[in-house]
Amino acid sequence: MGAAYGYPHPDPSHRVGAADGEGAAMPAQVLSGREAAAALEAEVAARVASLAGLGKRVGLATLLVGDDQASQVYVRNKHAAAERAGMASFDLTLPADATQDRVLSVVADLNADPRVDGMIVQLPLPGGLDGTAAVRAVDPAKDADGLHPYNLGLLMLGEPGPRPATPSGILRLLQHYGIDPAGRRAVVVGRSFLVGRPLAVMLGLKGVDATVVAAHSRTPDLAGITRTADLLIVAAGRPGLVGADGVQPGAVVVDVGTNRSDEGLVGDVDFDEVAAVAGAITPVPGGVGPMTIASLLANTVAAAERAAPAAG
Ligand code: NAD
Repeated sequence: MGAAYGYPHPDPSHRVGAADGEGAAMPAQVLSGREAAAALEAEVAARVASLAGLGKRVGLATLLVGDDQASQVYVRNKHAAAERAGMASFDLTLPADATQDRVLSVVADLNADPRVDGMIVQLPLPGGLDGTAAVRAVDPAKDADGLHPYNLGLLMLGEPGPRPATPSGILRLLQHYGIDPAGRRAVVVGRSFLVGRPLAVMLGLKGVDATVVAAHSRTPDLAGITRTADLLIVAAGRPGLVGADGVQPGAVVVDVGTNRSDEGLVGDVDFDEVAAVAGAITPVPGGVGPMTIASLLANTVAAAERAAPAAG
């Protein structure tokens, strides 16, 4: 197997080192999210520049509530990417003890601000605040995360609209490496509204055409299910959840997990073990994370284009 997707990469530096020992499997191709995100960011930057030519500066705003360090890093990375793409970026913060009304009023201000084309409410919000209510307050036309119920409804209808950023980043990563999900058996582990559930829907949409199994914390014999996947996407937030025994030889493995450990960030997949079995695998960090950010920018420039259709 291993060639099921036909994704030869000409550059051997994209392969992880072979496992030691006799009969070691062909090592997996590493799918670099940094490389694919740079390509998407370049496309976004060109679209931002063409809007600038029409006198429109594209703007992205973030709202961060509280002082969670991981969230601060995510927000900083989003601003850095927006600036690289030539967007204006607006960095709003509220203290952890902000009221729900205060959060909603900042969102309302951003909805009304013509400089803001896309916005992100950085989730999760501190305890006591309702994150999904804040997402519902975002103007669906400015929903850079693609998580507003209206936009999730468009997704269910299969109609165009901003798609959830992490799932669309994953599809874009596969596309960058010439991996076509059509006709493949995809197993998605995790069913959050942020990642797993919309991803399972997107993989099954007409035009994407994977056959999808949605696994979760109540799935019996998880390894037995994941082993049937040609395309395995793991978004559970459980380090080491998937090992070599849960992966079909040659499968494409996308690790969404981002878990802090003593060794730094680790995914949900045991990288070394699985890389010896899989055909291709995303690293953590440097896999899905950069794609999520590039997708936020893509949603934002698309929102600006819809508002200024002459740019298209
Ligand atoms: P979540 O906690 O909301 O959902 C986790 C899902 O995994 C749940 O649906 C649950 O059913 C499933 N799950 C948990 N334990 C399981 C188990 N033992 N077996 C099978 N399924 C199990 O998390 P989330 O927001 O979807 O995030 C998942 C992971 O992805 C986290 O590590 C998060 O940090 C990461 N993440 C990364 C990015 C990125 O851009 N790289 C974006 C979003 C989330």
